[in-house]
Amino acid sequence: MKDTTKDILIIGAGLTGLALAYYLKEKGLEISILEGRNRTGGRILTVSNNETPLEMGATWISPQHSQLLALLKELKLDIFEQKLGETAIYEPTTNSPHQLVPLPQNQEPSYRIKGGSNLLINSLAQQIKTTDVIMGCVVKSIEGSKDFLLVNTNQGVFKTKHVVSTLPPFLFLNTIKVSPSLPEELHEIAQNTHTWMGESIKIGLSYSDAFWDEMKLSSTIFSNQGPVTEMYDHSNFEQDRFALKGFLNNAYYSISKEERLELIMRQLEKYYGQRVRNYLNYEELIWQHETLTYTPYEGHLFPHQNNGHQLYRNSFLKERLFIGGTETASAFPGYMEGAVRNAKEIASKLQ
Ligand SMILES: Cc1cc2nc3c(=O)[nH]c(=O)nc-3n(C[C@H](O)[C@H](O)[C@H](O)COP(=O)(O)OP(=O)(O)OC[C@H]3O[C@@H](n4cnc5c(N)ncnc54)[C@H](O)[C@@H]3O)c2cc1C
Repeated sequence: MKDTTKDILIIGAGLTGLALAYYLKEKGLEISILEGRNRTGGRILTVSNNETPLEMGATWISPQHSQLLALLKELKLDIFEQKLGETAIYEPTTNSPHQLVPLPQNQEPSYRIKGGSNLLINSLAQQIKTTDVIMGCVVKSIEGSKDFLLVNTNQGVFKTKHVVSTLPPFLFLNTIKVSPSLPEELHEIAQNTHTWMGESIKIGLSYSDAFWDEMKLSSTIFSNQGPVTEMYDHSNFEQDRFALKGFLNNAYYSISKEERLELIMRQLEKYYGQRVRNYLNYEELIWQHETLTYTPYEGHLFPHQNNGHQLYRNSFLKERLFIGGTETASAFPGYMEGAVRNAKEIASKLQ
């Protein structure tokens, strides 16, 4: 057992966990973050490989995401508008030819973080220098007693006054054993709480130029044929690195990377011709293979099912355990905005 008793152990160094440590940083509390992966960020991951930064997780911010926008401002991070263009390449049915359709011009814009979403994670991590972030530390179980909680991990046992889980609640319930057991009602809700984007497949291709602009073709794609279902221009703000990035139909998770890439090439070739094959770098992330994000459901859950459920406002094990994370936020659950709001909500209870 570690010899010190922490005030707070946060499980997970994703946006919720890091933002929570950031909001608590002035309080003089002994805090550690236990992160199972060997990287911070959770569902935020920008990969570069010396080419265009590609977002494999969270990317877009809406103007309504006020708490996230305020946090970005505090951290001196800038945003820029997602380029959509005036038209989109559209495949309406599984066997119809693609067509160019006008995009509504009065749509609310969405924004990206200049330099990549990882900058948000890295800046938060820098701001909480005094908080321990213990990497590769997978929490297995939590045991409650009268005055403290014991947290069992692959790196030993930690003693603490409070635990905040920031895992998706479904993952928490199915991978971390809690004793004494949590209320049946909570089990029922968490067992049916959808993990936002947990099933998704992200793909990105970087190029030495934006050939789609030169060809006067749209880089916005909506397809009901697939495998690519949506795609967008993913060039950087400075317009000196170029990329296309989007989502693959979730059903393509089980074939090989080479097979997926070839199917993507064949689809994009229909619109852009051979040039699409001259990519510098291909990146993909099958989120349902990420065991620290996703574990399969027994039945079917609808997107956002039980996200933001009222029960997540409660604390458990004599008010020592908080079940947080974006899915539990009272507004915009599932999104980065939900993660920031949830961090603030829990920080206010731990003052
Ligand atoms: C493909 C994709 C696209 C997205 N697009 C957008 C978007 O455009 N805009 C938007 O607002 N949001 C988007 N999101 C959602 C956004 O990423 C999340 O809202 C946000 O990142 C969630 O942060 P979190 O900290 O609550 O959870 P997570 O990021 O899931 O963090 C939980 C952390 O807990 C760790 N962990 C898990 N189990 C254990 C364990 N047993 N022990 C220790 N640590 C553990 C994980 O490794 C992880 O770091 C997207 C998500 C994905 C996957």
